[in-house]
Amino acid sequence: MKELTLGSVRHDVGKIEKAWEFARIAHYGQKRLTGEDYVYHPLNVAIILAGWKLDDASIIAALLHDTIEDCGVAKTEIAAEFGADVAELVDGVTKVSHIRLKGSRDQEFVENLRKIFLVMARDLRVVLIKLGDRLHNMRTLYPLPEDKRMKIALETLEVYAPLAERLGMGQVKAELDDLAFEYAYEDEFRRVNAGASEYFKKTGEHIEVMKKVIGRSLTREGVRADIHAREKHLYSLWRKLQRPSINWDFGEIHDIVAMRVIVEEVAQCYVALGVVHSKYKPVPHLGVSDFIAQPKPNGYRSIHTKVFGPGGRIVEVQIRTREMNEQAEYGVAAHWAYSDAKMRGVSEGKLEKGSVRVKGEKLLWVKQLVQWQKEIKDTREFLMAVKFDAFNHRNFVFSPKGDVYDLPSSATPVDFAFAVHTDLGKYIKGAKVNGKFVPLDYKLSSGDVVEIIKSKNPRNPSRGWLEFVVTTAARRKIKREVE
Ligand code: MN
Repeated sequence: MKELTLGSVRHDVGKIEKAWEFARIAHYGQKRLTGEDYVYHPLNVAIILAGWKLDDASIIAALLHDTIEDCGVAKTEIAAEFGADVAELVDGVTKVSHIRLKGSRDQEFVENLRKIFLVMARDLRVVLIKLGDRLHNMRTLYPLPEDKRMKIALETLEVYAPLAERLGMGQVKAELDDLAFEYAYEDEFRRVNAGASEYFKKTGEHIEVMKKVIGRSLTREGVRADIHAREKHLYSLWRKLQRPSINWDFGEIHDIVAMRVIVEEVAQCYVALGVVHSKYKPVPHLGVSDFIAQPKPNGYRSIHTKVFGPGGRIVEVQIRTREMNEQAEYGVAAHWAYSDAKMRGVSEGKLEKGSVRVKGEKLLWVKQLVQWQKEIKDTREFLMAVKFDAFNHRNFVFSPKGDVYDLPSSATPVDFAFAVHTDLGKYIKGAKVNGKFVPLDYKLSSGDVVEIIKSKNPRNPSRGWLEFVVTTAARRKIKREVE
């Protein structure tokens, strides 16, 4: 077997070469609007996925992802040549491509997200391939006619970038956003780009100074750190500039260039925080956000602090471990690579322990997937689980905004309300599921969009609810109020 190890992932080169040959023959004679042979598109998608450290089946499926749709290759043929796993992936990508993703209104977005989610629930890799596909299409969007460019760019901003964000893939979200921003809002893009460059330069210089000061102190503390500056991506900068409190004042955006301190271990994050504050005073009231102790819903972990940098200018410092950094940039894909490496016996010391903590019943689904991936011991089991067949008995329900909650089967709108927030439980007046009124003891099922109708004033939970709630969180909180 011809092998190649990239980073922590070992690849079977023979199989990948076979898929490349297959794709070349299938796409023979087809051209893209860029003028190059079509097959360079699937090749680039495969390269993107290899960069995310995905497995061979994903890379092979990426090479073949347009062969069913564009070349009339049969799924059975792919299964015969490359196995059922790859065939399912290619088929899944073809199906996701058929989901019409349109509209920016919340309701349509949730509906679209739900459709993608149902595909994803079968195999997460399908969505990762689709994201790689969209990323390469965005990188090569320029030759398309203007109306098509606009449509694809808006769809990217409304569906694919938020999806990448929900999967914790910050790097991918940022690139999708910025590529689409330029096509979707050309004038605004130019305005932000022009306005930002001066601030990027000035803050970048301040950070160079801070980097030396903090680097020296960390060395004295025996902490090895990689310190660099990161510029805020233009689309998120634009969103922030429009806030009334900012009103296009670039000087009011404290994280326009942030300083990033990457260390090895969690404990060193707090050492680094101490060092930063001993050299540069934290800004009162803006304060420290510890997303390590309390990760964001998409799993993002980091410590953020705003300090008075050189010349009294406010600078945001972001402190995290190397693993947290990879997870922040590649999200679910990074977790994947880590669990994969762990499975193949990469020394525990190199991988950070306890990288994912799951609390209580209020699991957001990314955490759930990640936790689940961690629990899986051997490759075979892992691959089975990745297909998420075991997922069917889990119950994923959506808030009207598209947040996903994992609830046990037989959960009711009351369980949902307490899972969202304790306070919401005190305002339950009624509930709607998929837009229709339902009784409070209604049994939710996967894919339901649940909306709690709130009362004007808080009211005591009803004792009767104890008859039907199934989560301990809801039970405990109701009991506390009624007893
Ligand atoms: Mn494609």
